Amino acid sequence: MTDFTLAIDDQGVAVITWDTVGKSMNVMNQQGFADLDALVAQALTDDAVKGIVITSGKDGSFAGGMDLNIIAAMRDSSDDPAKAIFDGVMEMHGVLRRIERAGMDPKTNKGGKPIAAALPGTALGIGLEIPLACHRIFAADNPKAKIGLPEIMVGIFPGAGGTTRLSRKLGAMGASPLLLQGKLNNPTAAMKAGVIDEVVPAEDLLTKAKEWVLSEPNIVKPWDDKGWKMPGGAPYHPAGFMTFVGASAMVNGNTQGVYPAAKALLSAVYEGALVPFDTALKIEARWFTHVLLNPSSSAMIRSLFINKEKLEKGANRPDVSDQKVKKVGVIGAGMMGAGIALVSAKAGIEVVLIDNSQEAADKGKSYSADYMDKGIARKKATPEKKEALLGLINATTDYAALEGCDLIVEAVFEDMGVKAEVTKKVQAVVGPDCVFATNTSTLPITELAQAAENAEAFIGIHFFSPVDKMNLVEIIKGQKTGDVAVAKALDFVRQIRKTPIVVNDARFFYANRCIIPYINEGIRMVKEGVSPALIENAAKLVGMPLGPLQLVDETSIDLGVKIAKATKAAMGDAYPDGEVDEVLFWMADAGRMGRKSNAGFYTYDDKGKREGLWSELGDKYPVAADQPDLITVQHRLLFAQVLEAVRALEDGVLTDIREGDVGAILGWGFAPWSGGPFSWLDILGAPFAAETCDMLTETYGDRFKTPDLLRELADRNGTFYARFGEGVDTAA
Ligand code: NAD
Repeated sequence: MTDFTLAIDDQGVAVITWDTVGKSMNVMNQQGFADLDALVAQALTDDAVKGIVITSGKDGSFAGGMDLNIIAAMRDSSDDPAKAIFDGVMEMHGVLRRIERAGMDPKTNKGGKPIAAALPGTALGIGLEIPLACHRIFAADNPKAKIGLPEIMVGIFPGAGGTTRLSRKLGAMGASPLLLQGKLNNPTAAMKAGVIDEVVPAEDLLTKAKEWVLSEPNIVKPWDDKGWKMPGGAPYHPAGFMTFVGASAMVNGNTQGVYPAAKALLSAVYEGALVPFDTALKIEARWFTHVLLNPSSSAMIRSLFINKEKLEKGANRPDVSDQKVKKVGVIGAGMMGAGIALVSAKAGIEVVLIDNSQEAADKGKSYSADYMDKGIARKKATPEKKEALLGLINATTDYAALEGCDLIVEAVFEDMGVKAEVTKKVQAVVGPDCVFATNTSTLPITELAQAAENAEAFIGIHFFSPVDKMNLVEIIKGQKTGDVAVAKALDFVRQIRKTPIVVNDARFFYANRCIIPYINEGIRMVKEGVSPALIENAAKLVGMPLGPLQLVDETSIDLGVKIAKATKAAMGDAYPDGEVDEVLFWMADAGRMGRKSNAGFYTYDDKGKREGLWSELGDKYPVAADQPDLITVQHRLLFAQVLEAVRALEDGVLTDIREGDVGAILGWGFAPWSGGPFSWLDILGAPFAAETCDMLTETYGDRFKTPDLLRELADRNGTFYARFGEGVDTAA
């Protein structure tokens, strides 16, 4: 069976329908290209056919994109991967170009048959690149549909002509949010942006497309016509020059130069704009090949596309029956509880939101009301939707309302005693078998479980703040946590459309365990006299979203003090961070708690806007005359995190490096270009990584000591993914 079929109607319109076998959304693969090409050729040469409509057999969508494994297949098909990828990409260009030229005479542009794309809904990646090669794009008026080219989000760029066609259709300026930010639009917005041509009622989609095909339209693409000029100006045109200078600055500003795809995309558009269309496609293919051969792109695709999806689909879910949540009890309506109530209600789950006082519970619920009001103001929601969502949240002080809950998420104060008392009160109503999850960020799950009647049903579900924005959820198994509780937590996380990782119980679990050494390394450098600007910029230039000093300002310096004190109490003499605490405690004593007190390592204006690094810090911790080089600072900041990740794997806290990588990027923004801590070590190569750790250990201390596992991989030049990543590296 093939994914494409052709039917000719009595008016002579050939309808090519794409319907990928066994998938809910169409996905393009190598065979698909060949089949589409053959059917288009058949229709073009059939005298009975006047024109073609390409559509989808799936309800509500045209296509979700390309099967990225195609690229890996192209790369691996030859000893010369660059040539294999380039040739493979040029073949795709050939297929789409034959659609675009539709049998026209190459010199006179005469002849040819009109080809329309009729999109029932979502059209992403190649699902938009094919329509862009057609002569007119119709989309059904389906407000839920998403149309766009999101490739840049996973470390590549639209490489099947999307880059060249969209920049020529809209001009570099118009195309830039779509190409450089991967912005997706609903059909109406996509038409406004000029990406598609017409939005029609869903039931008229095929009729309208056919009518157009039969109307003898002009089908010559502007760029194939004589005298064509790039909208907004080509690079040597004064306006075009301004656009490209601005775009180049913007790309470098946003990416700090660490994302190869963004630069390559811009080069493909710039260089392509200077030459005829077919040459531009070749240039696009060269840059695309360049990006695909960069290990950063492979790693990003692997973590942010392939493995993220696998985790969301339950790669580590125990084999127990469906545990979908119908009614959740959220205890504690503070910052976290309010967010958890919101994301649950958004997923259609009934919520009981409990706090000590009705006022506190109502305040927690008002967070959802405010969220929906903002959505209404931005036309993303309606008053009816707001009412429906608020109708799902019962804010109360009455524990009896928890009756019937099939999951509890506790988010009260971070205090063992308070949590234990709440656990008992809740279980008196819901019974011992209802899965009870705690959102604690620091307390051991196994210890908290002692307050529960049934430790098998007790688990950690650790959200990140702000809950509605942060996509990662860390699920923590206590020593006795059972499979049903894990499945329940995973099914809940899936319902609220977040990405889960499942880890074992140990101090700070996974994410905080890695973030804290990052912050501490930054503060330690301040103590040593490294310039704060160097510390912060080094972090950003290696792709961290926030420097360590900004991060501690955001999370608050008093929280840092609290964690330091608790850790020291637990570790006793082995506690290694005295130097860090000196700076941290001094800041706290000076009342500089970070953003929340409008003063920290940075200064802030009255409205809380961050101004710059606090210059007087140098009076206490003077900047040394001799400064380390950039790479050393970057290595210290990154190794502080990744070595903790490796130790978490050695300790059995992490059981899957895919979770370690995806969790690091989504949880604390670990340099996404690298694909995560384990991917970064693989890119560096274990021998180089181990050698660097040895050097850092010699100069800066034992916290950089090469973990045994890394040493072992270094000795035989192995990689984490070859050893732990499902056996084989399937990324592009
Ligand atoms: P918060 O102080 O904003 O909210 C706690 C709420 O719990 C308050 O509204 C309080 O009135 C309520 N509460 C206290 N005792 C209660 C009881 N006996 N019964 C019912 N309600 C009670 O705190 P938060 O920042 O939302 O943190 C809550 C939990 O989430 C903590 O365990 C914290 O460690 C964890 N956490 C926080 C963050 C964060 O960034 N703030 C991130 C992850 C996890």
